[in-house]
Amino acid sequence: MKKCIWCSKSEEKVEFKKLAHTIPQSLGGKMICVNVCDDCNAYFGNIQFQTPSIETVIKETFNISRARFLSSFGEMGKNKALAKFTSIFFNVNFRTGTITVKQKYKLQRHFQEKISILLKRGIYKIFLEETERQNGDAHDSKYDFIRAFSRYGLGEELPLFYFERKYGIYLNVQDDIKYPVLLFDKDKRMKYLVNEPFFYEFELLGHVFAIPISKSWQIGFDNYITASLEAKKDFFVGYKVIKYFNEIDLTLQIMND
Ligand SMILES: [Zn+2]
Repeated sequence: MKKCIWCSKSEEKVEFKKLAHTIPQSLGGKMICVNVCDDCNAYFGNIQFQTPSIETVIKETFNISRARFLSSFGEMGKNKALAKFTSIFFNVNFRTGTITVKQKYKLQRHFQEKISILLKRGIYKIFLEETERQNGDAHDSKYDFIRAFSRYGLGEELPLFYFERKYGIYLNVQDDIKYPVLLFDKDKRMKYLVNEPFFYEFELLGHVFAIPISKSWQIGFDNYITASLEAKKDFFVGYKVIKYFNEIDLTLQIMND
């Protein structure tokens, strides 16, 4: 019997008719988490109090880098992986790698902060649905802190760590851009991503992030970040704790250098 990983209700109480894409379809996501009820699925796609939906923010964050890769593969245009690049938040100049927030959003108070919280909630959402899909473990109470933050906006604001690259990105696998997924399988992950109990590191559309996967992550942070930076020292200059949306290299400016 299906049981929702977000609200914990089962098929007797809620419906599971809609397909819940773990990574939005608009980014090429193809994978489905079957244990997400229609209400919770809709929640992530709905407009929040005067802010865009979590799904929109995820799309807006990653679509720019995805478009950049796809155009370099000749995969942008009619009948290609991405027909046309559009953004509701940004004006993007791919040639110069510059990006500005559109006027109507500039005027919104605390736009950057609000959006970065929705981005974080969206990243945790992708994690929980993907770990359920691949490992079948999302109902575990150890993830309650992720459920509270991501689905309900409750509890402490969880962090998102972002690693800054030294060099541009060389991609061998175009499918990772066309149809992005999260990898858990150690053998398939990049060598610079560490596996450990407090944090999960992943690469999504050229960006490398880490999120805590244990409520007591603060205890493990020093050991974790030391090991992580050591593993990344040849390719990354360091890390940031994301507070503002534009701290992520959204246009992959690094590829211009
Ligand atoms: Zn639900």
